[in-house]
Amino acid sequence: MQQAQRAEPTPQDFDRVLSSMCTEPHPAARRAAERFLATNPGDPGTYETIAELEREAVGQLGEIAGLNDAAGYVTSGGTEANMQAIRIARNRARTDDPNIVASESAHFSFRKAAEVLGVELRTVPTTDYRADIDAVTECIDDDTVCIVGVAGTTEYGYVDPIPALADLAADVDALCHVDAAWGGFYLPFSDHEWNFEHADIDTLTIDPHKVGQAAVPAGGLLARSPTLLDELAIDTPYLESTAQVTLTGTRSGAGVASAVAAMDALWPAGYRETYDRAMDNAEWLADALESRGHEVVGPELPLVAADLSIPMTDELRDRGWRVSKTGAGEMRVVCMPHVTRSMLRSFVADLDWY
Ligand SMILES: *Cc1c(COP(=O)(O)O)cnc(C)c1O
Repeated sequence: MQQAQRAEPTPQDFDRVLSSMCTEPHPAARRAAERFLATNPGDPGTYETIAELEREAVGQLGEIAGLNDAAGYVTSGGTEANMQAIRIARNRARTDDPNIVASESAHFSFRKAAEVLGVELRTVPTTDYRADIDAVTECIDDDTVCIVGVAGTTEYGYVDPIPALADLAADVDALCHVDAAWGGFYLPFSDHEWNFEHADIDTLTIDPHKVGQAAVPAGGLLARSPTLLDELAIDTPYLESTAQVTLTGTRSGAGVASAVAAMDALWPAGYRETYDRAMDNAEWLADALESRGHEVVGPELPLVAADLSIPMTDELRDRGWRVSKTGAGEMRVVCMPHVTRSMLRSFVADLDWY
């Protein structure tokens, strides 16, 4: 029987994507991903080159996050990194009834982590879109194993008061974890306090596959000391290496190699240029929306939320724009590296038509 000819599927292009926290990989990242498709950093004894590249990736991520000799590894994404950070905190603590504290603006991956790990998640309200320190203070107790701060919230791009959260964590001998999955590659060029240099934090999530412009999947978990990672170690009797700290077994060498290639190409000058352009674009869009009578949140980092009506947002979607909404119903535009001024101009022109 004749096989029906099927056209090769092609991915969407990024021309009208304003909703995603992923972007087009840097060309060098794309090439590196393809070269390393058949490698497995989960088996470093066999796949030595990619294992070495992963050490480089962790070193580079550490430099970006203000930490010399960082411990860590390249995860499948921010979700795994956050889950592993909570797992470290839980395993290290001596309590039968562990809880973690995060603001309600924390990413939903912490809900997954809490459920999988059997940890209570206590969420506190935000003030001006940032974790409310008084509310966190009220919420913590002797069973608190981790306080989470977000540096670049998924919905609004705001940064929690990280140094104050780290101090609170120290008071109850809990760990402080910072989630910079999205913001991590923008923040070094802003004046926020978010990283290992600015505060006594223990672990940090930073994803090369978002603003870092690496191929998917490439997330990052960093820890201040290897002792923290030891909390995750599981014996691996039939591998050449003796223990594994990762959550997944076989992992993407393509993600690891592309992360290194992207950071080689872009850190720091290229990322700085990307940040400057993205921030200019976000400010331009915020002004354009405000001058049309909309209430705008941000930009604190290159992300803009505005109170467009639901029919208005639907109309934009009908015109092919990919835009998303915050939990409160605002339209949300993420100024990723692929988002240009001319894209935003035609977006605003479509708004004016409405
Ligand atoms: C995207 C994001 C995550 C989740 O990362 P994945 O790579 O999608 O698993 C976690 N935290 C924040 C703040 C994010 O923006």
